[in-house]
Amino acid sequence: MSDVLNNLALIKKRISAACEKSGRNPQEVKLLLATKTVSAEGIKVALEAGETLIGENKVQELKEKFDALIHTPHKKHFIGHLQTNKIKDILKCDVTCIESLDRYDLAEKLHQRLMYEQKKMDVFIQVNTSAEESKFGVSPEDAVELVKQVSQLESLHIKGLMTIGLFSAETEKVRQCFKLLKKLQLEIIQQNIPNVEMKELSMGMSNDLEAAIDEGATIVRVGTAIFGQRMYPDSYYWNENETK
Ligand SMILES: *Cc1c(COP(=O)(O)O)cnc(C)c1O
Repeated sequence: MSDVLNNLALIKKRISAACEKSGRNPQEVKLLLATKTVSAEGIKVALEAGETLIGENKVQELKEKFDALIHTPHKKHFIGHLQTNKIKDILKCDVTCIESLDRYDLAEKLHQRLMYEQKKMDVFIQVNTSAEESKFGVSPEDAVELVKQVSQLESLHIKGLMTIGLFSAETEKVRQCFKLLKKLQLEIIQQNIPNVEMKELSMGMSNDLEAAIDEGATIVRVGTAIFGQRMYPDSYYWNENETK
């Protein structure tokens, strides 16, 4: 697990170097540990080293790790595809923000359940900026409308936007995805929609966090570069025909 600590130190350096290069304050960029498939023990190592924010893709994994992490202070975001039949479960796991809200029917069901439990939830709207069919997210054309609709559900607080950039070694193409998310953010801010905050842009992962920071990311989500290669391909987490 000393690998995790070394890797964390390297990621921190990459983040601060990227901030310096693009003239940004490193305080503005949070690191979210993408912990899918990582054991609770592995996550603890990072949390005990001072990290504070993790993101999970599967409700099943949230539940499995919940007890083991309960005494280690941290915040949890949900960053995976959320099925409506998992809403009750996710609300039991102390998730403070769902970053992957991408459709109104999910927002409405979430709202109903939150009302029933007298709770509130932060959400980001996930946008599909790469137009790849395998990924989730509202299309860029429909994003502003979805923000307006969700803003009317008073148990949900919209805090920003999230995207998974194009999976490509061509940095320029990946960067276009991040630019698009930034553009949408500015467009939404201009519209001054009540109950909508647009401070957060969650974008950038192990391979592309520098470009994301350059384009305005406030949260980068990093898994592989900290915890090592995963056993499953990402398509397992990002495709509709998932098994879990
Ligand atoms: C896995 C995952 C990440 C982290 O990706 P890495 O390439 O492992 O850094 C970020 N965001 C989401 C939504 C993910 O599923």
